Amino acid sequence: MVRNKKKIVILGGGFAGVECARQLESEFGDDPEIELVMVSEDNFLLFTPMLPQVASGMIETRHIVLPIRTICQKTKFYEGKIKNVDPYGKLVTLWGTGDKRSISIHYDFLVVALGSETNFFGMADVEKNAYTMKTLNDAVMLRNRVIDMLEQAENETDPILRKSFLNFVVVGGGFAGIETAGELMDLLLDARKHYHTIHKRDLKVIVLEALPIILPGFNEKLANFAKEKMTIRGIDIRLQTAVTSFDGNEVTTKSLDQNPKDPIDETIVDIIRTKTLIWTAGVTPVNTIKRSMLKTDRGKVVINEFLEAQGFQGVFAIGDCALFLNPETKKPFPPTAQIAEAQAKVAAKNLKAIIKNTEKEKFEYHSKGQMAIIGKRSGIATFFGMNISGFWAWLIWRNIYLSKIPILDKKIRVFLDWAIDLFFDRDISRLKLMKHEEEKEYKVLDEVDDVW
Ligand SMILES: Cc1cc2nc3c(=O)[nH]c(=O)nc-3n(C[C@H](O)[C@H](O)[C@H](O)COP(=O)(O)OP(=O)(O)OC[C@H]3O[C@@H](n4cnc5c(N)ncnc54)[C@H](O)[C@@H]3O)c2cc1C
Repeated sequence: MVRNKKKIVILGGGFAGVECARQLESEFGDDPEIELVMVSEDNFLLFTPMLPQVASGMIETRHIVLPIRTICQKTKFYEGKIKNVDPYGKLVTLWGTGDKRSISIHYDFLVVALGSETNFFGMADVEKNAYTMKTLNDAVMLRNRVIDMLEQAENETDPILRKSFLNFVVVGGGFAGIETAGELMDLLLDARKHYHTIHKRDLKVIVLEALPIILPGFNEKLANFAKEKMTIRGIDIRLQTAVTSFDGNEVTTKSLDQNPKDPIDETIVDIIRTKTLIWTAGVTPVNTIKRSMLKTDRGKVVINEFLEAQGFQGVFAIGDCALFLNPETKKPFPPTAQIAEAQAKVAAKNLKAIIKNTEKEKFEYHSKGQMAIIGKRSGIATFFGMNISGFWAWLIWRNIYLSKIPILDKKIRVFLDWAIDLFFDRDISRLKLMKHEEEKEYKVLDEVDDVW
């Protein structure tokens, strides 16, 4: 007798998708009637909490990527970009790439865990000129950019141009923005020793945040601690400040302060000269979701209390791409890895319940705490109801995130990177990662000429 296997297809190999696959493998990994399939653009899980440390050169690039084939050994993996999800025909279609043909995969059950991408809120010039902090490529590009700016500034004679090389603007005061700003300052101060004309006072990291606070989600005391500590280190945090444009040379900002200290002061528009703007100010679900026939709100998949997409039994949406309202605040949960993994566990349980015809479980979220590092061996953490700040919070951050890396050799590599950083300076080699760099003709200048 030929049995029809039931196929569970997971879309996305991020925190939500990988955790869901691991849970399903422990339940169905050896079940001949269930086939587990995952499709993702990259063949690795990116450990985003350590991404800013790759950008600062503290951790080696490959140490924070975890091959999916190593973590999910009982799941058939397709590396590819998903073009379309058809929940009526129960079909997922992949874009054909290069020599690969376009593939269609049929499913019986689906888990959509496609995460999010950077949201520029329609500002095309910012999108074109800004650096981002979402992918491994982003971190590598940013590190090389920072070193390049130091190289350019070291020999620049035009003071205005030199200043714009050494001004770094980070937009967004959330996890990604604050951790990036802290790490960036660490990198700049460490690398500076090799640039004899650049002094500490020349380096500027500016954080722009539209809200009146940084790190929303943390209690006010901890967020204020972070702000004060970072300010003491020379990071200029400007709250209630929105970016309106960035042309690659100047960023224009607008004050959102309704009650300015000085009502006569009309300088609500400001210009900062910089060559490097790092945009971390928001995320939006990927286009594949927006294009799909799944019901969406603000681009995210609308789900019920069992995490099933509205109108489609057996189709789950989890992580950053799913819209689940916090029952207490009636606001969406923030996009975090912790929530993505908690949802993945419940989605796996509910798939098991459907297959085994048992009761499904409602998703209820209980935060285990939150942590952020702010540079120079300092951080903030809420942990089992306790508020911790400074060195101990930083140490807890390191221990917890190290324990969360699911592959032993990567854990050891990250640990060694941290250990090496205690004794040696960071590598300031600037890698040119483009296949071919065009030769540009520049005007030959006299020694006294200060136009570049
Ligand atoms: C710099 C930074 C620092 C962060 N720090 C923290 C932190 O300290 N703590 C915390 O809890 N959270 C943190 N986060 C947030 C956390 O990374 C996200 O909330 C989490 O990754 C969401 O998991 P996810 O599985 O929903 O999405 P993701 O992890 O983004 O995974 C989505 C997956 O889908 C794939 N995908 C997307 N579109 C397609 C397509 N069309 N075809 C094929 N594959 C596709 C992607 O390649 C990816 O593998 C941080 C994020 C960033 C950027």
